Amino acid sequence: MAKIIDGKQFAADLRGKMTTQIASLKEQHNIVPGLAVVLVGEDPASQVYVRNKGKQAKECGINSIEHKLDESTDEAFLLNLIDEMNQDPAINGILVQLPLPKHIDSDKVLNAIDPAKDVDGFHPINVGLLSTGGKGMIPCTPLGSLMMLQDYHGDLTGMNAVVVGRSNIVGKPMFNLLLQQSCTVTVAHSRTKNIEEVVREADIVVAAVGVPELVKGSWIKPGATVIDVGINRIETDEGKTKLVGDVEFESAVEVAGAITPVPGGVGPMTIACLLYNTMVAACRHNNVDMPEA
Ligand code: NAD
Repeated sequence: MAKIIDGKQFAADLRGKMTTQIASLKEQHNIVPGLAVVLVGEDPASQVYVRNKGKQAKECGINSIEHKLDESTDEAFLLNLIDEMNQDPAINGILVQLPLPKHIDSDKVLNAIDPAKDVDGFHPINVGLLSTGGKGMIPCTPLGSLMMLQDYHGDLTGMNAVVVGRSNIVGKPMFNLLLQQSCTVTVAHSRTKNIEEVVREADIVVAAVGVPELVKGSWIKPGATVIDVGINRIETDEGKTKLVGDVEFESAVEVAGAITPVPGGVGPMTIACLLYNTMVAACRHNNVDMPEA
C-alpha cells in the first residue's frame, strides 16, 4: 500500500514558512509583497479560484489586490491596466485569471505582463529561462509537484521519470524541471505508442492529461512515486458528482510506493506556489536575499 503524499498539509506547512519569511521581509526591509489578480467576467469557477488566492495571500501577509472587471471589458483597457501594474513598484506579481472572454487575445495579454512579475510563469521569456536553466518564474503546478517529489525522495538524480501530457502549463515545464534535477525524462502524450509500457519504466510518474483515471495501477512499476495533477469532475452511479485525478487511485495505491490523492494532492500546492513566486519576485525586485523560514 502506497504512502499518501498529503498535499494539503504540505501546502499549509509551506504557507506557514512563508508567513514567517514575509514577516521578516517587512521587519528587516519594510517590504510587503504585492499580488494583483485580474478577473474578467463572471465565470463561477474562476471567481472561487480568485477568492481563494486573495484569502490565502492575505493570510501569509501578502498585499492582495483584486481587479474584477466586467465581461465586456475590451483588450485595450486590459493592456493599459497591465502596463500600469508593470510600472507599480508595490506590485510584485500579476496574475490574469484564465479563461478570458473570447473577444480578448489571451496570448497578447499574458505576453504584456513584465516577465519579472509573471508569477504564473507562462510568459515566453520565463519559458525560455526555464529551459535554459536561467532565473525566471516557474509555473506553479509543476513547481508544487517538484517540491513534493524532492521532499519525499531528496535527490532525484538518475531517476527515470515519465510525464504523461505535454501541455504548456504542466507537461512541458514539468519535463524541464525534472531534467534540471538530472532525471532521465520521457514525455508521453496522446500519440505515444505502448503508453502503458512507457509508464511502467518510470520511478516517477507525473500524470497531467485531463482524462479521468486514465493511468491504471497495472501501468505503474511497483514502488514508483505517482504525482496526479489531474482534476476531473465525474458523475457517480448515484447521480452525484465527485473529483477524480488522471490516475485510477484505487488500483494505483496498491502498487505505487507513494501517491498524491485527488483532491488534496497537487491542487493545494498550486496556490501555495503562486504565493511563493510572489515572495520570490518581491525579493528579486528589491535585491534582497530570501529570509530564512
Ligand atoms: P491539456 O488538455 O492542456 O493537456 C493534456 C495533455 O494530455 C496533452 O498534451 C495531450 O497530449 C495529453 N493527452 C490527452 N489524452 C491523452 C491520452 N489518452 N493519453 C496520453 N496523453 C493524453 O491539460 P493540462 O492543462 O495540462 O491539464 C491536465 C490536467 O491537470 C487536467 O485534469 C487539469 O484540470 C489538471 N490541472 C490541475 C492543476 C492543479 O492545480 N492541480 C493545474 C493545471 C491543470
